Amino acid sequence: MTSTPAESTRPDFPLPVPSEDGAPFWEHLRNGELRVHRCTSCGRLQHPPRLMCVQCGSTEREWALMSGRGTVYSFVITRQAVHPSFEGHIPYATVIVELEEGPRLASNLIDVPVDEVAIGMPVHLAPTAVSDEITLPLFRRA
Ligand SMILES: [Zn+2]
Repeated sequence: MTSTPAESTRPDFPLPVPSEDGAPFWEHLRNGELRVHRCTSCGRLQHPPRLMCVQCGSTEREWALMSGRGTVYSFVITRQAVHPSFEGHIPYATVIVELEEGPRLASNLIDVPVDEVAIGMPVHLAPTAVSDEITLPLFRRA
């Protein structure tokens, strides 16, 4: 029987794989900007990126710069590692942040103990590079 230290067998965190429509979202984050689709026909902001506006069906859109300010709309605390890469990182909070401009996105909080996470908590964007390609839109308490 062989034994291998956990650190050497722990896979890296699974990272997002940008889609064709979503690639610019990740490019903007690498520059520290959170941008979401704005339909240029009806003005609706939507996230995640989609081919068509869910309100009017237009395929015309632009990447609108968000302020990075928002509040925790909802959250869940994970206390068991559902993937080996999360061992040593539990418990952690997955939050739905409602940006002040309206769109919501799933994220995680930095430097907030899980028992302090609350609906309505003001947060601000903290772009966090985790690889050469991926900068995550994490948030800190505002
Ligand atoms: Zn539209």
